[in-house]
Amino acid sequence: MKICKFGGSSLANAKQFKKIITIVESDPKRRIVVVSAVGKSHPDQNKITDLLYLLHAHLLYGVDYQALLNEIIERYRSIQLDLGLKFDVQAFFDRLKMDLSPKTERDALVSIGEKLSAILCAEYLNWPMIDAKDAIVLTSDGTVDLERSTQKLNTLFQQYPHFVLPGFYGALPNGRIKLMKRGGSDITGSIVAAALHAEIYENWTDVSGIMMADPRIVPEAKPIPQLTYGELRELTFMGASILHEESIQAVKHLNIPLNIRNTNKPEELGTLIRNDIIDDDQAEGFITGITGLKDFAVVTVHKEQIARHPQVLRQILESFERHDLLIEHMTKGIDSLSLTVKVEALKERQFDLFADLKQKCSIDKLTFEDDLALIAVVGRNMKEKPGISGQLFSALGAKNINIRLIAQGTDEISIIVGVANADFELTIQTLYEHFIRKNG
Ligand code: ASP
Repeated sequence: MKICKFGGSSLANAKQFKKIITIVESDPKRRIVVVSAVGKSHPDQNKITDLLYLLHAHLLYGVDYQALLNEIIERYRSIQLDLGLKFDVQAFFDRLKMDLSPKTERDALVSIGEKLSAILCAEYLNWPMIDAKDAIVLTSDGTVDLERSTQKLNTLFQQYPHFVLPGFYGALPNGRIKLMKRGGSDITGSIVAAALHAEIYENWTDVSGIMMADPRIVPEAKPIPQLTYGELRELTFMGASILHEESIQAVKHLNIPLNIRNTNKPEELGTLIRNDIIDDDQAEGFITGITGLKDFAVVTVHKEQIARHPQVLRQILESFERHDLLIEHMTKGIDSLSLTVKVEALKERQFDLFADLKQKCSIDKLTFEDDLALIAVVGRNMKEKPGISGQLFSALGAKNINIRLIAQGTDEISIIVGVANADFELTIQTLYEHFIRKNG
């Protein structure tokens, strides 16, 4: 049995709905469909979820909301009419409007985006729609109560061999609707797949999987056919804008494969993510993907023979902790310790942090630079293969790119290099050229 989650762009209009139906009906194993709210058909359009948040703000501050509400109604009505569905969108909103007031609960209001997608999709498929408030149990901070949700989903699945479920929300134990984090439909899909021990969790979106590099930097970058959950973690941590790592914890724990697919190109196999890859067809290439982020700052704290002063190391780390700064990387020299943090995070706290470091840690000097980009070269096949970092340094050296930081963990799944922000794109292009394109 397969769980299919369709994101907002796969539900943007009637044409997209038709693609979903074709995909679902082409495989009888696709028995549960999880849907997002209607997304954008084109870049100038707004996502329905954003419009619903805005509608709530209009209500709260007593601003006229009719035009906004009409825009939302129109998006769903055009889908209903184009698909020839019976569900009366207008009547749904007429009823809703009677209850709208400054006291309207935000989460309940925003959840109708997903709910309406599910109602329309279910009618079109001729399947039942199960309200997520009857299937997904959340705790007060919006995280999923896996145990109770699993029980509910199993009971439902015994009753209904197929169903459509809205993503992104569930109910608190007292029955009140609660939203998850933005992008939460991915979590819903993952919970359902885990609860029902699905054979695979298919996440249908508008790209053909996870790309080997950002296509805005490397236009010919191809999708990664297979990767491990460990590699996915490295790629997302360092900026690849794909699924949020935490959204797929449930399937990862049970080693349920996750397949990212393109609704607009269902013939493509997308990216398959698993814990272990046995039939590794990528063995020729060592690198799975290249990703990175700009705008890191490096704070270097100088202290003679710093390793001989463990209390200074501790004081420095405590100082960062006091200022709520996450340390992305640390490199130590004989007389210094360099700590890498995001510029954005440091911005407002910089002067307080520096004062704190100078007063509370017995250090000699402090230096600082703030235009560092970090690039991660990720690949499960790099492990125990001598010469990869050598090649990496030579390739960058040949392009005159100065490496300012290097980091590699002992699991050897990624090598991270720090370069000037200005060299970010060239570094990624050079590494792609050297490690991926050359290998065919
Ligand atoms: N519609 C929600 C959002 O925009 C949830 C989702 O699509 O996953 O964040």
